[in-house]
Amino acid sequence: MRTWKTAKRVVIKVGSSTLTYETGNINIRRVEQLVKVLADLKNAGKEIILVSSGAIAVGVGKVGLPERPKDTPTKQAMAAVGQCELMYIYDKLFTQYNHKVAQVLLTRDVVDVPERKAHVQNTFERLLEMGAIPIVNENDTVAVEEIEFGDNDSLSAMVATLTRADTLLILSDIDGLYNKNPREHPDAKRIPVVEQIDETIYAMASGAGSNRGTGGMVTKLHAAQWAGEHGIETVVLNGSRPENLYDVLEGQPVGTRFLAQKSE
Ligand code: ADP
Repeated sequence: MRTWKTAKRVVIKVGSSTLTYETGNINIRRVEQLVKVLADLKNAGKEIILVSSGAIAVGVGKVGLPERPKDTPTKQAMAAVGQCELMYIYDKLFTQYNHKVAQVLLTRDVVDVPERKAHVQNTFERLLEMGAIPIVNENDTVAVEEIEFGDNDSLSAMVATLTRADTLLILSDIDGLYNKNPREHPDAKRIPVVEQIDETIYAMASGAGSNRGTGGMVTKLHAAQWAGEHGIETVVLNGSRPENLYDVLEGQPVGTRFLAQKSE
């Protein structure tokens, strides 16, 4: 297992609540900061894989719907419009730093079908060899679960294991896991390190998250557990300041760090 400083292959998941304003529109300043940090980490020798939500929000803004749709076909249609726009934004911003991006749309069943899994793994390897930054999302036109449950956290853990990443970094709208929901309990305390994700840890992560994020902390715990069982450490940290990624990779005590359960 690699340490923080030597971690080479890094999967970064960014949620809708980090990428968009409360209005639902894209937070341009945040996205620009994020791209700058990721481009810089790539320059420093890291292999970057970005798992990005935000397609529906961007689609809603582009089409000009008054609010986020509730029915699945409209959500899927907005994801299709927004995914294009989102990739356009990433492509434009990463190109400014001379980096190439690649869109990878997955459905979670790729892990169940060995042939598909091998194809996906080969594609990731080739893209990384070529120095591209894969940008991953669930294929929302096909997959309904993501839209229903908002769970790109599990997708990011799946991507981390498929690509045998050294670490998984989940950017959220909160500083990490607290001993109780800090939105309801102002005296809640952040937990810096979790050695084992068990029932007591799950009990801390009650309820869904913000209006824009949909998974809440529970899906992040599932993701960290899956990654940890495959020998990959996870850190959940606040995405409102993308520069936090530097601190995490320098081993600073930022966010909540979930230790891997075994070394692979
Ligand atoms: P994202 O869009 O980044 O995936 P979410 O809004 O889905 O974010 O999930 C993070 C939210 O989970 C927090 O803002 C908070 O409201 C909620 N939450 C519930 N329990 C906890 C806890 N114990 N520690 C931290 N956050 C918690």
